[in-house]
Amino acid sequence: MSTLLQHADTAMYRAKGEGRNTYRFYRAPSSITPPSLTLEAHLHRAISNHELQLFFQPQVHGITGQIDQVEALLRWEQPELGAIPPSQFIPLAEEVGLIVEFGDWVLAQACAQLQAWHQLGLAPLRIAVNLSARQLQHPELVTRVAQLLDTHQLRPETLELEITETAALIDIEASISTLNDLRQLGTRIVMDDFGTGYSSLSYLKRFPIQGLKIDCSFVQGIPQSPEDVAMLRAITALGQELQLDVVAEGVETAAQRDCLVSLGCHQMQGYWFSRPLRVPP
Ligand code: C2E
Ligand code: MG
Ligand code: MG
Repeated sequence: MSTLLQHADTAMYRAKGEGRNTYRFYRAPSSITPPSLTLEAHLHRAISNHELQLFFQPQVHGITGQIDQVEALLRWEQPELGAIPPSQFIPLAEEVGLIVEFGDWVLAQACAQLQAWHQLGLAPLRIAVNLSARQLQHPELVTRVAQLLDTHQLRPETLELEITETAALIDIEASISTLNDLRQLGTRIVMDDFGTGYSSLSYLKRFPIQGLKIDCSFVQGIPQSPEDVAMLRAITALGQELQLDVVAEGVETAAQRDCLVSLGCHQMQGYWFSRPLRVPP
């Protein structure tokens, strides 16, 4: 019975993740194509084999170059298959139920790294961690975050949690309740990939968030595309009106940086400033 419920749950997550108002069948692992089966088998051993690693990408002030925050990004280097991109293994980890374990590993590593940086005098540097849909639904999330902050002696506002609209909308009321609890704790919460999900703007009022990260797809077209410039101008103004911090993702050129500065969006992340970097052991 519990297996049946687990499989139903997997199918439900896929349906909701693919736009709701739809249905998906659970596929038993045997019907998954061989490459992803191999990938799944390897994925189960990734943590115990020490194949996961965190990279960090700075978030930069477009004019001053100041770095107040870095985003933790998960990397998986499988000895036989090489580096597998997060866009491939994170959805798989979500599907096979490993994402909560992975997410917990990321949170713990990120908090430990932030503590080490603070001890080196890099306070008040903040760290941002991406939360998956299932992590957000997990009943132990708030307790676990509180415990990690305590263990690593971190001020709660130095931890930022990034959620996507799609993840938050899977179970709106539960998400709002969890996000409120995390806010009570004092952590920051931002909406990642803003503008790409299925949400309506009314949710922006209901989610207790402090910031928006504008998806890189909007940044790619500037300054050439008038539509993208208009979008960025509108999102920046919306953020300012709602007193939300706005960060542009995927800034790859000086022209994009200059355009964002002219639109009043000063916080940026992207290859122009730095690729995600690993911390030497
Ligand atoms: P994200 O959270 O929106 O992270 C930003 C992604 O954009 C990262 O990809 C980063 O490497 C990439 N990026 C940064 N600057 C540029 C740029 O200038 N140009 C372009 N084209 N890309 C840029 P990455 O590391 O491959 O991660 C992809 C996604 O995987 C993340 O998107 C996030 O949704 C997910 N992810 C990564 N790490 C974690 C994690 O620890 N937990 C969870 N749940 N998801 C994660
Ligand atoms: Mg992110
Ligand atoms: Mg993003």
